[in-house]
Amino acid sequence: MSYGIHLIRFVDGEPVPVSETAIREVLGPVTVGGMPASGLPESWDLEAEDGGASEVYGGTEGLTFNRFSTGAVLDRTAELARRTGAVVLPQDGPAILGDEADRKHLAEPLRADAIVVPSAALTGQTVSHVINPQPEEPRRPLLPDFPYHPNPVATGSVTASDEACVCCGQKRGWVYTGPVYAADAPSTGICPYCIAFGTAAERYGASFTDTVDGDAPRDVVLTILERTPGFFAWQSPYWLTHCGDGAVFLGRAGAGELKAYPSAVEYLRRQWPSGQADGLLDSLDKDGRPTAYLFRCRVCDVHLAHADFT
Ligand SMILES: [Zn+2]
Ligand SMILES: [Zn+2]
Repeated sequence: MSYGIHLIRFVDGEPVPVSETAIREVLGPVTVGGMPASGLPESWDLEAEDGGASEVYGGTEGLTFNRFSTGAVLDRTAELARRTGAVVLPQDGPAILGDEADRKHLAEPLRADAIVVPSAALTGQTVSHVINPQPEEPRRPLLPDFPYHPNPVATGSVTASDEACVCCGQKRGWVYTGPVYAADAPSTGICPYCIAFGTAAERYGASFTDTVDGDAPRDVVLTILERTPGFFAWQSPYWLTHCGDGAVFLGRAGAGELKAYPSAVEYLRRQWPSGQADGLLDSLDKDGRPTAYLFRCRVCDVHLAHADFT
């Protein structure tokens, strides 16, 4: 991609210098020829372990990354922004803030459109999603990374759309079509990026899954409830956990599909009265009702499922 990205820290609308040490430590390891013994070069080239590259100009008062690759180089850019509190300012996109509280510090023309990506979520991949590179066929940008729901298009929770997102106002190419739990949230029209970045959850007080079943750390539960596309179920859907972590949702499954997942069948049978288990199992239909919801443990890889019954 041939975009440029600026990294600038703002205080009260004015650029302020960032730590030279941070720049040296984050970019030094991927600087071609290494950093000078002290100070920063006037301009320099980056080459990362994955072969990605970028030209860098500027200094502590602001850096420009030109002709950068996605991947490791962009990860370094994001890391530097996290460490220095700088704003990521893509040439053709909105400023990316690490904290809503910093919006007031931005240069005035940038304030209205800036989007907030909580620092912990600010990675190279996030930046490239915001920049929205012109993709090849199909002409849809990459979806955000959802560790607990890795393919929401396949499960039917995200679908292609040319409409602007009701939350961020941008045309992201995709729209979330699963459930939204909130008193005053729009039930449709939220883009998956606003889910991934936590923007929709924060703005509407919304979650996208009703319940997480079992024990998982608080941050995992919040990630599943607030930053992961949910799915519709005939009965109120819930998210399974295993090995102390949220499980990965793989989609709906009927009796036929479940044959490939004996551990999921075992898991279902344990929840059913033993005399009825065979009949219940046979009645499951991927596209009908009742259906099973298939998960995989992120830790031990075992498959799990729950099913609805009318
Ligand atoms: Zn959005
Ligand atoms: Zn497990």
